[in-house]
Amino acid sequence: MFLSQNNIMCKKMLLTYRKLYRLPLLFMGTVSLILPLEAKAKTLITEKQTDLSTRTVISLDLLDLFRNAVRYVQISSISNEEEVEIGKQINQKLLNQQYQLYNNTQTQEYVDSIGQELVASSNSRDIPYTFQVVASDAVNAFATPGGFVYVTSGLVKEADNQAQLASVIAHEIAHINKRHSIENLKQAVIAQGIAETTGVSTNTLAQIGYQLAIDLPQSREYEYEADRVGLEILQQAGYPPIAFVNFLEQLEGGGQPEFLRTHPTNSNRIEALTQEIESSRVQ
Ligand code: ZN
Repeated sequence: MFLSQNNIMCKKMLLTYRKLYRLPLLFMGTVSLILPLEAKAKTLITEKQTDLSTRTVISLDLLDLFRNAVRYVQISSISNEEEVEIGKQINQKLLNQQYQLYNNTQTQEYVDSIGQELVASSNSRDIPYTFQVVASDAVNAFATPGGFVYVTSGLVKEADNQAQLASVIAHEIAHINKRHSIENLKQAVIAQGIAETTGVSTNTLAQIGYQLAIDLPQSREYEYEADRVGLEILQQAGYPPIAFVNFLEQLEGGGQPEFLRTHPTNSNRIEALTQEIESSRVQ
């Protein structure tokens, strides 16, 4: 039977993919060899691409497979771009296995606009920031590598006003700006003894990062730093920093919400925050 043009293209793409896929398997772990190969894949695909959408889809799938199969990262020198890639993979796992996005577009846009404004008005890192509300009655918020901030719908409901909500988001942005999440990830990789000289795959890093995001409370040292930097971010965006103290006190008064479990707190923390605000004379 006569093969259609499309079928011939598919076969060609498959053969190209197989050839390209074998090469990196031979040299797995060496990013310097992988990057040129990836560039080669792009060139080949561009040459073969036409305006038919089916072929474009095949090309994109092929590139995704290629990247996911071979990407290895040196944990001693993770670049911003690599951190964002790891963050995207953690995000996929979180939304597939742990949380659902809160099904309310208005709330999503509200939280995202607060977050983007805080980032824009402070000295944040040169990476994209993503703010998402996940459906959970637990009152919690957390940040993962690569600029991803998560706020539960329970926390959005708990906040009395925009400044209180912004204060928690600013605290999470501070964790990202000070690279706490990626440092936690590096330390976990070292502790597990999988920091090979050839690098660690982004898949492995994303799996460990996912576990950290759902399991591990932040260290007190990181909390104090995120509090301090978070206050600066709030202040730079024009919010009253005292809103964070008020919100923490409100949460403490309401039992033990998740946010205080994952963000160890005590009277010293609130005292330190109050002193910080008084010393900067901002109320
Ligand atoms: Zn924190």
